[in-house]
Amino acid sequence: MRSLTFIISLAILIGLTTAHPAPAQSKRVVISATAVLDGRGHVLRNTRIVIEGSRIVAIDAKAGPVDYDLRGLTVMPGWIDAHVHLTWVFGKDGKNAGQGGTTPDAIYAAASNAYVTLMAGFTTVQSIGSPADIPLRDAINKGLLPGSRILTSAEPLVGQGERSGTPEQIRAFIRKQKEAGADVIKIFAAASIRQGGNMTLSQEQLNAACDEARKVGLRAVVHAYKDAVRAATNAGCTQIEHGTMATDDDLKLMASKGTYLDPQAGLVIENYLVNKDRYLGTPGYTEEGFAAMQRVLSLNHELVQRASKIPGLKIVFGTDAVAGAHGRNAEEFIDRVRDGGVDPMTAMVSANSLAAEAIRMSDQIGSIAPGMQADIIALDGDPLKDITAVRRVVFVMKGGVVYKNVARSH
Ligand SMILES: [Zn+2]
Repeated sequence: MRSLTFIISLAILIGLTTAHPAPAQSKRVVISATAVLDGRGHVLRNTRIVIEGSRIVAIDAKAGPVDYDLRGLTVMPGWIDAHVHLTWVFGKDGKNAGQGGTTPDAIYAAASNAYVTLMAGFTTVQSIGSPADIPLRDAINKGLLPGSRILTSAEPLVGQGERSGTPEQIRAFIRKQKEAGADVIKIFAAASIRQGGNMTLSQEQLNAACDEARKVGLRAVVHAYKDAVRAATNAGCTQIEHGTMATDDDLKLMASKGTYLDPQAGLVIENYLVNKDRYLGTPGYTEEGFAAMQRVLSLNHELVQRASKIPGLKIVFGTDAVAGAHGRNAEEFIDRVRDGGVDPMTAMVSANSLAAEAIRMSDQIGSIAPGMQADIIALDGDPLKDITAVRRVVFVMKGGVVYKNVARSH
């Protein structure tokens, strides 16, 4: 409750001190564009997007009058990041403070993370770290705070072998997260890759966790490396996070079962390396762990390269953004294209319609089409020709509300 109070006072503060975005009205808004990526792999040329309230109502080249002239830019659906940790922050001393902190500093920092992530073009994120995401999610969804739309997992199931409980105890834990307001279940089925990445839940435990998630109508996303990838796939879990050291056979099995893969091509480890002095010596971050990171980075590049070649494997976009990476999520696109060999359009779709499908919101977000939420961003540049254009997000609309509009006139 304490954290909720802080979030609300922050919301009031922001409301009083900055230009508050106008609430979505049913007024008609028209955006003109020369290039629109529709989020499903197509490019629309010289058209206009018509918005009423929070939704897109038409794509009509003859619509007018124009409210936002985004010609010369690349317009597309707001991005979806399937894996962030919004409450993961640096503390007052500048060092890694982990996630879920409830001090005023930690709460302001988490709210700031949600804001900078939205400004970077990510209109929806799946923040799968801590119950502290829940009041942040609710404040943003009520329009009290500017930030990405959040789906979250409440408390994760942390694999600790037998200590994680019997299948019945695990099922009860999953039901408890549903009651706590989780949108998705997060499961750790492997140790940190810095500690070898071995399996930490048995097949039986995983089966119980993902089956119970399905029974209560939730998806299950599983932190997994090596053998845990196959085990989580066989358990019918929805999505694998990381997936490092999965074999081609594991990836083919995922493709055949429709299991989503959310690999990280670079940002999360690059961020640790850049911020080494802020992480080193804090819980879980040792010199040996840092020494392992370079090797893990090349394994991750190799995974993305291999996974991209597996027919039918659904690869979604997720950064695993921790302290230092929030607002820089789009760097992961550059890593995927440059180091993972992913084609730029595939990279864009992985954070649009495919990501929306993975979070079961494809009827709401991830595409530019009539009936969809008006989550629309614009880049100064063409990411299909130069992927670094993803760094230049100059327009952000979420649910019909414009949060950023700094495009120079064309
Ligand atoms: Zn994570």
